[in-house]
Amino acid sequence: MNAQKSFIRIRPALQKRAINGLASGTLVRQDFQQELTRFFDMVEQAIDSGDPTWIDPILYEWASTQTETDLEGNERNVTALLKQLITFTVDTIRENLEPDDALDLMGVLMPVFFHGVERVTIFENDSRVAYITNDLQILQAKVERLDRSKSNFVSVAAHEFKTPLTLVEGYTSMLSDLMPAEAEQMHLLLQGVHNGIRRLRGLVDDMIDVSLLDNNLMSFNFQPMWLNRIFNLLKADCQSTLQARRQTLDIRPFEGSNDLLFSDTERIYQALKNIISNAIKYTPDGGQITIDGRTLPGFVEVTVSDTGIGIAAENQDAIFEKFGQLGNVSLHSSGKTKFKGGGPGLGLPITKGIIEAHGGTIWVESQDCDEVRCPGSTFHILLPLRSQPSDPNLGRLMNASVVPIDYTSDINGQ
Ligand code: ADP
Repeated sequence: MNAQKSFIRIRPALQKRAINGLASGTLVRQDFQQELTRFFDMVEQAIDSGDPTWIDPILYEWASTQTETDLEGNERNVTALLKQLITFTVDTIRENLEPDDALDLMGVLMPVFFHGVERVTIFENDSRVAYITNDLQILQAKVERLDRSKSNFVSVAAHEFKTPLTLVEGYTSMLSDLMPAEAEQMHLLLQGVHNGIRRLRGLVDDMIDVSLLDNNLMSFNFQPMWLNRIFNLLKADCQSTLQARRQTLDIRPFEGSNDLLFSDTERIYQALKNIISNAIKYTPDGGQITIDGRTLPGFVEVTVSDTGIGIAAENQDAIFEKFGQLGNVSLHSSGKTKFKGGGPGLGLPITKGIIEAHGGTIWVESQDCDEVRCPGSTFHILLPLRSQPSDPNLGRLMNASVVPIDYTSDINGQ
């Protein structure tokens, strides 16, 4: 008997065995019976033609109509079903055919089934990958939506804080003006309120800056700027804190520090102030902070080094992320200058945003974080050497001998 005839002979028994073994419930049985009939029809075609791909379409159909629950689980349902059908087939052949016929039929049937298992594994994996990819895309869209609404919330909240803050600030000043000079204790208390308001305002401004940078809405006003003037202003601004902490701020003259750069002076001041405030904060009393630098092709590099606690290598990227402050949360709100006084972790992300918006870059170098050894940290800031204004009218106002103006060129697209 040839293989095809053998298969036709065992098919009713095989189909019955498969139905009993795999489907429960009358309705399920009816559906399953139809599917099995289609499948065994295709198997017959495959045996007849010697081409196992006849069974591919139905396997593909089964694999692609898996439910969400099937896909969420880790089982390969159709592969498992096919493997069970192979077992039933072998058992049915053994019980119903003479050994020679059985061997002949197995010889043509097994390649068809093995081809089927191989294809169905691929189909099921493809369906699962497509399902996971789709899931990831939905998740990514959700995260993006969440990030946008968080950013909007920060921006709205920060702006909403500003109005009552201005009111409290105004009334405190009025109260202070009205208070008789001899009411010293009252003045002291009002000074405390005033300091609190100042810090709150700083925080609100930082939150607004972060949301502006997040949404690419921070505008920059490029003006002539000299780094050494900014450094001297910063030193004057930090003088009382430096004295209180017995720290020294050494500003070294370097090539490029006295050259004109077109930048947003206020924003660069803000960026450098954040770095220097941190250097003060994370350096023990009596420590040293040094501003140095050099020119590189197309850039001026500013370095701010301190003799502070340092930053572990694994945190050197994280500190530039929003809310990327390290260390003890209980230290938060302990002040802008106190040793290790934590903040909200917005200073460095804002600094990075400002520097990058100027076409520059910022990174930190430190051996380790060790509060006893104090290995120190060095922040490197690269700013493009932009010696010409983006606005020709502004250039015309500048002294031509100081600024070699090329009115035809636009600087870095700014
Ligand atoms: P914060 O408001 O916490 O100071 P920043 O964004 O300014 O936020 O800094 C993030 C974190 O980077 C800080 O919490 C601190 O752990 C670390 N850091 C920044 N500057 C220094 C420094 N000079 N030395 C040691 N650690 C620093």
